[in-house]
Amino acid sequence: DMSKNNKKVVLITGGTGLVGKGIEDFISSDPIAQESESYVFLSSKDGDLRDKAQTYAVFEKHRPACVVHLAALVGGLFRNMAQKVEFYRENMLINDNVMEACKDFKVEKLVSCLSTCIFPDKTTYPIDETMIHNGPPHASNEGYAYAKRMVDVMSRCYKEEYGCNFTSIIPTNIYGPHDNFNIQDGHVIPGLVHKCYLAEQAGTDFTIWGSGKPLRQFIYSRDLAELIIWTMREYHSADPLILSVGEEDEVSIGTLAETVAKAMEFKGNVVFDTSKADGQYKKTASNLKLRSLRPDFRFTSIEEGVEKTCAWFKENYATARK
Ligand code: NDP
Repeated sequence: DMSKNNKKVVLITGGTGLVGKGIEDFISSDPIAQESESYVFLSSKDGDLRDKAQTYAVFEKHRPACVVHLAALVGGLFRNMAQKVEFYRENMLINDNVMEACKDFKVEKLVSCLSTCIFPDKTTYPIDETMIHNGPPHASNEGYAYAKRMVDVMSRCYKEEYGCNFTSIIPTNIYGPHDNFNIQDGHVIPGLVHKCYLAEQAGTDFTIWGSGKPLRQFIYSRDLAELIIWTMREYHSADPLILSVGEEDEVSIGTLAETVAKAMEFKGNVVFDTSKADGQYKKTASNLKLRSLRPDFRFTSIEEGVEKTCAWFKENYATARK
């Protein structure tokens, strides 16, 4: 479908979140997007995607050619453990409505967003795209994980039965401007940035829970955005694609904390509280499939990404989600 000005309408569900803001940033300087695509960034205020009628009204209004489906009920470990039923049901409803609407409105391409936390709990490393369903996910987030796993299954089923061009991407830990910087319920980088900010303000130690030894892969939101838009335009298989930095770019939580401290110009002590438990030591994902498709892609270094995220947080402290 083409809009009146002959540009392809690209609908971004969950367009007001961390990843949606990364896409907004990327397309603002991307020539193809500027010339031939027209982006619509949705928030829950534009329609509750748990509701079929509201979802169809959104599709009727915008008539998208392509859809990037980011909207999801997401939360930290505690909420995932306490509300498995809601994480399963709400995400199933959102995903079912979006996929069915994409079929009915003859959307040319749907890219849905999965997560590495849907992978099997007991596995060998590195994990790749073929291993998603090889065993149950970690029990703590099984509601969320099974709802996400079904998106992968249904992308293939819609393709097989209706010829739909649906696929999904699997990002590792994402960070960047516009993240949720809540220390209790947020993810590791925004949590560290906020904690460090408060320690600097109060003149106290910057205390990290655990030994700092666990390793993680982080992707800067704008890098992820660029790769998602590339997937939308160029990757036409239903099978999922891991979007991540490589194994060689895994960083320890300790190194990360030092990087945050440097970017925040924190003058005090960085302290590791080893009385607190470490999470899993590592959960390395393989990016070999991505590398084979995009050998040219250069990731933003963790130093530069953290620097930009810290600068954004300081500038937007009053209004940032925290
Ligand atoms: P955010 O929490 O920052 O944003 C979530 C978005 O979804 C918001 O735009 C929100 O709208 C929208 N949304 C939530 N519920 C509904 C609903 N019922 N109807 C319509 N819209 C809704 O998410 P992220 O940008 O961090 O995540 C995007 C995707 O990436 C998600 O699918 C997530 O599972 C996945 N992901 C994220 C990772 C991370 O590290 N952050 C890691 C791996 C995967 P509103 O603002 O109005 O509430």
